[in-house]
Amino acid sequence: MGSWASSENARLTMRANRARDTKPELAVRRLLHARGRRYRVSYRPLPQDRRRSVDLAFARKKIAVLIDGCYWHGCPEHFIMPKSNVDYWSAKIARNRERDAETTLLLQEAGWTVLRFWEHEDPEHIAAAVERALDGPAG
Ligand SMILES: [Zn+2]
Repeated sequence: MGSWASSENARLTMRANRARDTKPELAVRRLLHARGRRYRVSYRPLPQDRRRSVDLAFARKKIAVLIDGCYWHGCPEHFIMPKSNVDYWSAKIARNRERDAETTLLLQEAGWTVLRFWEHEDPEHIAAAVERALDGPAG
């Protein structure tokens, strides 16, 4: 594995990004909940692939919401490649992004509407977009 986690900086970054209930996700959940929207958290929509989960799911309407962390998912605005172990990190982020695209595709094939956001997006904006999808003609 080499020493990619040995630098204090990398370890702190990893720790900061590990949290499952990220702050932006919690903010979005609070807003939706306050508006009477009921959802499931960390839902696994694919019976054939139980390892894939979405952050929020409106199971009846088959609407899945994913709020991607800027770091792990390689946000074009905020991801900064660490100075050391560039190969490790670029491969890891590329794998995550591939998996994201695959998840979106699998969900769409299963009839889900997939709404993906970056964690840097305004929670109000995200909640509004989710509500539009919930109330839209497709719902
Ligand atoms: Zn970002």
